[in-house]
Amino acid sequence: MKENSLSFLGSTKNFQQAQGVIFGAPFDGTTSFRAGARFAPANMRENSYGIETYSPYQKRDLEEIQFFDAGDLEIPFGNPEKALDLVENFTQKILDHKKIPIMLGGEHLLTLGSVRALFKHYPNLHVIHFDAHADLRDNYLGEVLSHATVMKRILDFLGNHKIYQFGIRSGEKEEFTLAKTCTFLNPFNLKGIGKILPQIQNIPLYITIDLDVLDPSIFSGTGTPEPGGVFYHELQDAIMQLKGLNIVGFDLCELSPHYDSSGVSTLVACKVLRECLLSFLK
Ligand code: MN
Ligand code: MN
Repeated sequence: MKENSLSFLGSTKNFQQAQGVIFGAPFDGTTSFRAGARFAPANMRENSYGIETYSPYQKRDLEEIQFFDAGDLEIPFGNPEKALDLVENFTQKILDHKKIPIMLGGEHLLTLGSVRALFKHYPNLHVIHFDAHADLRDNYLGEVLSHATVMKRILDFLGNHKIYQFGIRSGEKEEFTLAKTCTFLNPFNLKGIGKILPQIQNIPLYITIDLDVLDPSIFSGTGTPEPGGVFYHELQDAIMQLKGLNIVGFDLCELSPHYDSSGVSTLVACKVLRECLLSFLK
């Protein structure tokens, strides 16, 4: 692990005092349509200085919380198994220090590595999943490890009725059929989030945000853009509704900065991360 010269806006230099630890996982080896998510963590750090540390929505400043930016994992190309092991091992280390792992993808498959490590610590782990895509395929072109199969791989060991999916508007018929009996799938928008809050109090929760849940008109910088998405405020409101729950880890994935030459998508991702940090850390 090498420390980048830049770290995310507002991060502390003090690992020991940090409650959360950010790490970048620059890997996009299974991206099915347009690659480029490997560039997201560095691009987010650099552009994070374009937003304020203070959130007027939450009346809270990043300087009031403690999080450490550990830089990026060094991940070899073309080996998803190895990438997952590296993510799992590093997440494990963060958990050993009793801190909250915060992963910046990279592609969405990497979430599997984080969730594997968290599941060992928290056998009753539940996952809240924001995405345009169900990601419940059993394989994609014969590959069982893919960003299109990541939630199915997690479902395989987490067990039924522990995954809450929001904003889903794309997938094969079989994925939606599977979701009916195995997950809680809320299509098209994030409105159902309020309804699940009573059921998930005190349960260890992992939040995974595939940023393509956002509409491509405000977030074009992603590998598999899907029209009909949610807008910024809807995602931020959902994040703020999760405040105060037992959140033990979270990630942001699938920003692919170079597809948006305006740079707006990266700033959207930075702002989503700021609001997550302010909502999920104490
Ligand atoms: Mn997606
Ligand atoms: Mn996804």
